[in-house]
Amino acid sequence: MIDLNDLNIDNLVQLYDLDLFELGEMAHNIREKLHNDKVYFNMNRHINPSNICADICKFCAFSSHRKNPNPYEMTKEEILSDAKSAYERGAREFHIVSAHNPNYSYEWYFDIFKTIKDKFSDIHIKAMTAAEVDFLHRRFNKSYEDILKDMEDSGVDSMPGGGAEIFFSEIREKICKGKVSAENWLKIHSIWHSMGKKSNATMLFGHIESKKHRIHHMLEIRKLQDKSGGFNAFIPLLYQRQNNFLNVSDFPSGIEILKTIAISRIIIQNVPNIKAYWATLGLNLALVSQEFGANDIDGTIEKESIQSAGGANSKKGLSKEELISQIKDAGFKPVLRDSIYNELEAY
Ligand code: SF4
Repeated sequence: MIDLNDLNIDNLVQLYDLDLFELGEMAHNIREKLHNDKVYFNMNRHINPSNICADICKFCAFSSHRKNPNPYEMTKEEILSDAKSAYERGAREFHIVSAHNPNYSYEWYFDIFKTIKDKFSDIHIKAMTAAEVDFLHRRFNKSYEDILKDMEDSGVDSMPGGGAEIFFSEIREKICKGKVSAENWLKIHSIWHSMGKKSNATMLFGHIESKKHRIHHMLEIRKLQDKSGGFNAFIPLLYQRQNNFLNVSDFPSGIEILKTIAISRIIIQNVPNIKAYWATLGLNLALVSQEFGANDIDGTIEKESIQSAGGANSKKGLSKEELISQIKDAGFKPVLRDSIYNELEAY
């Protein structure tokens, strides 16, 4: 019997040794208490303004480099045009994250957010990973506090969970050296939460990290959540294997992926939602994950550039109708939510 109150990594990593269905049942019981049979999704649009990046993460297939030699920078007009058409199709969240483009001025970011907010006042802007905040801090010598305040003032409502990757420093050194440190990722979210704002947290898994590194990562999120309470969702992101410079030969099986999602639900009980992000898992596995602790599948997305660059089948997003019908077919109740998990409509 594993004592879940013993937060020692060597103790909790034994959860991986449990039978998949035993683990699944433990996670599912927690999920049912919190969310019954609901599966949350939202109407969102991903906007990735540029793939030109000053940083070099070995796992990244999105940024422009020799395996992906197609640098782009969207103009403000292109961004607004995409935003307008998505808004007209019903999107009420814009998820705006970019590579760390050294050509952009500090003001460029805030001008985009402000313009979007002025034009679409009921849009929720989820923007700027902690890695982007750290990039602005390094490039323009601004404090985290000032950058986060400028985000708030220009209309950013919440922060996405990207850039967390794996917190364990030796692995971080190997996969994304130079990018925001684990300590600063956590610090940035902690400051954002102290401003009364919400964010998400991710974990990139399935590359060169071990099971213990995943447990360490989950415990760090749990620890900060105990203090700040600002995380809405934890999102285990499955590493996409194509077009990058990380030499990975050993990929997790479907069983290990489901166990990782279940263990997230069991360890991070203080974060209300576990998202099985269909863009990295594929829709089928994301739906099966709902039996293993997850209660969210993300949203329509419309255009996905980051995971699809690494081989995921997510380039074009999914329609609302398709999401609803697939969630129903999986035996769950689809619930349209807003970006901070207020329920808008059940189907
Ligand atoms: S993961 Fe982000 S920061 Fe790293 S290379 Fe890719 S775009 Fe740049």
